[in-house]
Amino acid sequence: RGLAGGPSRPVAPAPDMAPEARTDVAGGRPRGLHRLEGWQQMQALDQATEALGVASPYFRLHEGRAADTTRIAGRDCLNFASYDYLGLNADPGPRAAARQALDTYGVSASGSRMVSGTRPVHDALEAALARHYGCEAALSFVSGHATNVSLIATLMGEGDLVLSDAYIHNSVSTGMALSGAARRSFPHNDLAALERILENARPLHRHVLIVVEGLYSMDGDLPDLPGLLALRDRFDAWLMVDEAHALGPVGPTGQGVFEHFGLEPALVDIWMGTLSKTLASTGGYVAGSADLIRLLRHRAPGHVFSVALPPVLAAGAEAALVQMGEERWRIEKLHANGAHFLAKARGLGLDPGAGQGFGVLPVMIGDSLQAARLSERLLARGINVAPVTFPGVPMGAARLRFFLSSDHDTAQIDQALTVCAEELARLRDDGLGRLMSGS
Ligand code: PMP
Repeated sequence: RGLAGGPSRPVAPAPDMAPEARTDVAGGRPRGLHRLEGWQQMQALDQATEALGVASPYFRLHEGRAADTTRIAGRDCLNFASYDYLGLNADPGPRAAARQALDTYGVSASGSRMVSGTRPVHDALEAALARHYGCEAALSFVSGHATNVSLIATLMGEGDLVLSDAYIHNSVSTGMALSGAARRSFPHNDLAALERILENARPLHRHVLIVVEGLYSMDGDLPDLPGLLALRDRFDAWLMVDEAHALGPVGPTGQGVFEHFGLEPALVDIWMGTLSKTLASTGGYVAGSADLIRLLRHRAPGHVFSVALPPVLAAGAEAALVQMGEERWRIEKLHANGAHFLAKARGLGLDPGAGQGFGVLPVMIGDSLQAARLSERLLARGINVAPVTFPGVPMGAARLRFFLSSDHDTAQIDQALTVCAEELARLRDDGLGRLMSGS
């Protein structure tokens, strides 16, 4: 209430408050901000990195388009931190479609889909997505994150159970928490553990939803889709696959994880994905049965109570989807880059963990501080790659995460990995990064 409108008169601190919480300075504005657990964790991390002399690897300002190269602080760098897997973001095709929609419809849809926001480009995008997944219908949302939150919170509630892989994206976990359903996480890709949970918990719940990703963005590995479908059938559950990273990088023609396994996409109950990666746009989508889409159209809060995807972004995404299907060389190049990365990394003694060459390639470091320092040293040598540190990944599993694109060439990959191996050896020789060992 305080944030929404604010009390008109100052509120006296409760008598039992700690003295430092009584002042605005200690409490922050809005009052009490600095006592939040999230604030304190953020401060502790900032202070620790500052004390250890490590620059934050986050919020780096990119001065142009971030593709295979990027410009940071006036300097051109090799870039391995963009989701533009097939290099479609600056391609003339999606740009021309987006420009035409911009000229026709303006910058914004200026209303929710229900009220006044629907344009022909939305219908065209959704028809193309439904065709892609061999489903009856699809629906776009203005954000990928909001898609997962809304979708799960709409479908699941009290008396239901949502089961998610331990490496699932925050948008899924947030939707699970909001749904009010019981929730459990199973160890990453561990179907035996999932089976045990289902054996015990299935009889106690009305609906059970299993949520996995088509390509995991931490390890760069795939789910066992055939195994998941078998469990789904055996326990009468629903299976949802988040294809955010898989559309484009996975499958011989980049159609996603179903193509990789040679399965009919309509076997999966719910496909979800984002427009912000391979499709060079912004927003999210769901594809499935006509009834599922009808329900979301009418009930999903992120759809009903949020503005429509800007027409310019819908048009750009649809053009990118069509072009992806027509230009197979992009996917072949991305896969070749992935295979080259794996071979080169191993040759240099680097550990690509569970990475399988699909566009997301980790280089395992272990220690969080060492991963952050390595990223800093790479940037100093003109290579932009982000670390993933605890608590984003478990203790001792920090890594650098390379995102590859069909725009990259093998010389760029060789250069990045060679510098990475040199700098990692130097860090280890210096004994640097062990101060926080195990983290
Ligand atoms: N799902 C997954 C697996 C993601 O990685 C992301 C974002 N990286 C999202 C959903 C949210 O998508 P968006 O960034 O397009 O909102």
